[in-house]
Amino acid sequence: MPDNLTELTIHEAHKLLKSRQLSSVELTRAYLERISRVESEIHAFVTVTDELALKQAEVADCLLADDGAGPLVGIPVLIKDVICTRGVRTTCSSRILENLVPPYDATVVEKLKACQAVIIGKANMDEFAMGSSTENSALFITRNPWDLGRVPGGSSGGSAAAVAAGETVFALGSDTGGSIRQPAGFCSVVGLKPTYGRVSRYGLVAFASSLDQIGPLTRDVADCALVMNALAGYDRRDSTSAPQPVPDYTQCLNADLRGIRVGVPKEYFVEGMQAEVATAIKVAIGQLERLGAEIDWEVSLPHTPYALAVYYIIAPSEASANLARYDGVKYGFSYQAPSMWESMEKTRQYGFGAEVKRRIMLGTYALSAGYYDAYYLKAQKVRTLIRREFDQAFEKYDALVTPTSPTVPFRIGEKVDDPLQMYLSDVCTLPINIAGLPAISIPAGFADGLPIGMQIISKPFGEETILKIAHAYEQSTEWHKRRPNI
Ligand code: GLN
Repeated sequence: MPDNLTELTIHEAHKLLKSRQLSSVELTRAYLERISRVESEIHAFVTVTDELALKQAEVADCLLADDGAGPLVGIPVLIKDVICTRGVRTTCSSRILENLVPPYDATVVEKLKACQAVIIGKANMDEFAMGSSTENSALFITRNPWDLGRVPGGSSGGSAAAVAAGETVFALGSDTGGSIRQPAGFCSVVGLKPTYGRVSRYGLVAFASSLDQIGPLTRDVADCALVMNALAGYDRRDSTSAPQPVPDYTQCLNADLRGIRVGVPKEYFVEGMQAEVATAIKVAIGQLERLGAEIDWEVSLPHTPYALAVYYIIAPSEASANLARYDGVKYGFSYQAPSMWESMEKTRQYGFGAEVKRRIMLGTYALSAGYYDAYYLKAQKVRTLIRREFDQAFEKYDALVTPTSPTVPFRIGEKVDDPLQMYLSDVCTLPINIAGLPAISIPAGFADGLPIGMQIISKPFGEETILKIAHAYEQSTEWHKRRPNI
C-alpha cells in the first residue's frame, strides 16, 4: 500500500481500489486520521461525518468487487456546508442555520451517493457564501495550508483548503462570483464553475439564484472531468437546469491544442494587479502557445470594468429576496420575544453576520421603489451587454485565458474591514457568472511559495474545451504536483 494515501487523486485511488491493493475503509480511515492530525491548524470542516463515512466505505468495498464499479466508488468527498445533506447538519456557516438538519439531500449529493462516493464531512465557508476569504464564517476562520497566516480564499475556502491539505480527495463548492475558482487558485487545486444550468441547484441554499452554480474542487484536471460526469445533467426539480445531453468529460483529455484559438483579454490584467501574478500567467499562456494553441494577446472586452458594479447590485438584490425566508418562524434559529415583530427582528439581528446584513441592505435599497430603474434595471441591461461581448468573443476564440485573482492569498485580517478591497479580489471571476459561462482555475505557478491560479473561460456548455486546454497545460507542467508542507 502506498504511504501517501492522502495525496492520491481520484483516478490513482480508483486503480488501487479496483485492484484490491487498497480498500475504501482503509482509504477513509487514512483521511480521518489526517483530518484529526491537521484540522487543529486548518479548520476546514464544520462537521466530520466519520461514522457515516465508514459505513458508506464498507458498502463501497462490497461494490468494488463488481467489475462495473465506477470511478467514484469508495472515494472520500467533502461537501460545502451550503449544500443540503439529509440527516447531516447544514449550517451555511451561519448562526441562523447553526442547528439545521435538512430532511433531504441536494441533487448533487444524491448523485454522489448513487456513485457510492464516501461523504467525509461538511466544509466551512463564508456565511451564506458571501465573501472571498472564509473570514465571514460565523463559526471559525479557515487557514491556507500553504501559509497558515493567510486566507484560503472564499467562499468555498474550507473545500479548497481541505483538498490541498490532504483532508479529502475532492470537494464540492458553489460559485456565485468566483467562490470555487478563487479559493482553488489560492490553494493550488483545480476548481470548475460549470455553465449556469449544467448542474442542478436543487438543495443548494440560494444566495443569488441567477448566478449560483455547484462545481468540483479536485487535485487535477482528470479528476475534475470524472466528477463532472457525475454531477452534470438535467434535473426536473431545478427548472433552470439545462436539458442538454451530458458528454463523457474524460474523452476530451489528452488532446492536442493545435488549432485551438485562445484570446487574452487585456482588461483582466487590471491596474493594481500583483506583478508576479501577471508575469506567471503570461508565462503560462506562452506554454499554451508552445503546446500548439494560437494566441491572440490583444483581445479587448471593454465592458469588463462594469462587471463588479453590476454584480454588487444583482447579487445583493437576489440575496435580499432569498434571505427573507429566515424569519424565525419556518426553520433555523428563532429568538423568542413577546411580539411577532420583535421576534423576527431579533432573529435576524442575532442570526445574521455583518456581511450578510450589508448585502441585505444593499439589495433592498437597489430594489426599492424609486431606485429600481436606476440600479437593478440598469444593472440587468449592462449584464446583457457583458454577455453579448462574450458571445462575440467566442465567435473568434475557443477560450479566453486570464489570471484567476489579481493577487496571491492575502493575510488573515488584511481586508476584512474593507469590503471594497475584498470585493476587488473577484474582479476576474465575477464577469463569468454574470454571463453564465463555464470557467476553471488551475495551478499555474507560485510567488514566494504562494499559489497563483490561471482561469480558462469558454462559451456556454464549453466545459470540454476548457478541460482539454487545462489538461494539456497541466500535463506539461509540475505545479499541480506540489503539496503544502503541513
Ligand atoms: N466573493 C463574492 C461575493 O462575496 C463571490 C462569492 C461567491 O461566489 N459565492 O459575493
